[in-house]
Amino acid sequence: MADDKLRQELLYMVRLTSKYDFSRMEVVEGILRLENERQILGSVFGKRFKTRIFDIAAGQAVDETCVICGQHADNKVICQHCLSTIGESDYAKNKIKTKEKDKKPRIPDFKKLIDKIKSITIKKEKKEESKETVKEKVPSKISVGKVKRYVQGVLIVCLTLILFIQIWILGLWFTIPDYNPTEEARVSSNQVVPVESADDAYAQLLLDFPEEEGYTVTYSREDADYVGRFLLNPGDCCLEIEDNLTDEERYDYFFKEDVYVFYISYLEENTGKVGIAEVNHAGSILIEGSFNDGRRTDSFYKFR
Ligand SMILES: [Zn+2]
Repeated sequence: MADDKLRQELLYMVRLTSKYDFSRMEVVEGILRLENERQILGSVFGKRFKTRIFDIAAGQAVDETCVICGQHADNKVICQHCLSTIGESDYAKNKIKTKEKDKKPRIPDFKKLIDKIKSITIKKEKKEESKETVKEKVPSKISVGKVKRYVQGVLIVCLTLILFIQIWILGLWFTIPDYNPTEEARVSSNQVVPVESADDAYAQLLLDFPEEEGYTVTYSREDADYVGRFLLNPGDCCLEIEDNLTDEERYDYFFKEDVYVFYISYLEENTGKVGIAEVNHAGSILIEGSFNDGRRTDSFYKFR
């Protein structure tokens, strides 16, 4: 190994000598700086070589002997004989070959490696990019679509519910009057016939409230009621009319005349109707009570 080291050292010196101009200080400085780092020129020849090239660069007078063999050297460092012997030795040739061998397969390998690494990193980047874009775009699209569909569904359900509620309210609205219908006031279809007695009045009432239809007419008493009431049109509500009378109309309206008073009742399984009927001598009839559902049961209506 020591032999090999020396050969390596000599070859190094030969190469430097045949390659560089040692009269230039920057060249020599470069070589010595490199030598400080690598410590190649450690033999006697190496040390001599270093001193020689420094002296040459510094411009000092040097003996022109070969630092290796001591013969005269034209270049003042290594003689031509040593240069050719060492430079063309088998060792030097092998060194070059192994260097080339070392270099040659390495360079393409290295290149390939770099290319591979590049391609891999590019692929990776692309993959990551595509992954990221997929992550960024697709999920956001999916989530937006999901939210949209969800909101649409909720809206449809809400609107349908509201529609059903409206229909339900509308249905209620239409059915409410059926629970509590307002009917036209009931009026008699019979002629006004003057009566002389309670019996005559009773007979007239039976025409409108016959026993065979479930009515019961009972005589109560003779009494007196306002003349004006018997002059109203059939179906008129006495209280409503009286509220709107002028003073002059009141004067004529509130005279009293004799009337026959009867109770009328009507009973069914689930329904009961009761009321009062008044008949004056002219045969006009007023009725009060629950015969007309939804109407005022506390007021007389002109019936006949
Ligand atoms: Zn020599």
